[in-house]
Amino acid sequence: MGKLDGRVVIVTGAARGQGEQEARLFAAEGARVVLADVLDGLGEALAKELGEDRASYVRLDVTREADWAAAVAHAKERFGRIDGLVNNAGILRFNELVSTPLEEFQAIIQVNQIGCFLGMKAVAPEIEAAGGGTIVNTASYTGVTGMAGVGAYAATKHAVVGLTRVAAVELAPKGIRVNAVCPGAIDTPMSNPEGVDPEATAELYRNLVPLGRIGRPEEVAALALFLTAEDSSYITGQPFVVDGGWLAG
Ligand code: NAD
Repeated sequence: MGKLDGRVVIVTGAARGQGEQEARLFAAEGARVVLADVLDGLGEALAKELGEDRASYVRLDVTREADWAAAVAHAKERFGRIDGLVNNAGILRFNELVSTPLEEFQAIIQVNQIGCFLGMKAVAPEIEAAGGGTIVNTASYTGVTGMAGVGAYAATKHAVVGLTRVAAVELAPKGIRVNAVCPGAIDTPMSNPEGVDPEATAELYRNLVPLGRIGRPEEVAALALFLTAEDSSYITGQPFVVDGGWLAG
């Protein structure tokens, strides 16, 4: 028996990185997963690999309310109900605060913060209609502490933690638990942008992180599974750091 048998979960940013691993793990645990992203080729290929009884891809730009309505309709048409959401899509740009163009700051807010808000707004009523369920938002290590060079990003991730707490309180009477994962440095395309040597990234985190390595996206997926499954039935409104001890040091 899987931990998510019979559950239908939307995962945003599911085409690659942490979202991909969350989708793979949730499907392996018995969920039917709606893979939502703007990278259509990767998303469709993953849905095909997981099988049409297990997964379905939908194009969803998380900043667009109309896309959310369409994704909800898609999920209900394909799988009949929705009882989970993983708000995982996000973007990162490096810039010192005083050098950050306003447009860049606003673009990061749109995806990381507004996208999370729109997702909960669109999906929570469906989860309630299904009899309750879970929402997992993706904040960051920088949602609970500061770090030079990521001012806009850290602001949005602190906002995700705030949204998570408020949503948990508001949605608890409707049978919906809301928690946040706060990853440290995780080995995904986000951490390895073009032009950066992945070995240099790995070396950086070997030195910075007490556990001596960068994290794997599967290790964030395992936490998202815990927060989606009944294992965490008495937990809501909390940010959980998964960072190899980085914050502790
Ligand atoms: P990634 O760049 O590999 O994946 C992000 C996914 O989000 C991509 O598939 C991308 O297409 C999608 N996406 C971006 N904008 C979107 C939009 N407007 N609508 C829909 N989808 C969109 O990065 P990742 O490391 O897998 O990041 C996943 C989440 O984890 C993000 O919220 C990120 O901020 C967070 N996070 C990552 C790290 C890390 O070190 N990798 C650390 C802390 C938090």
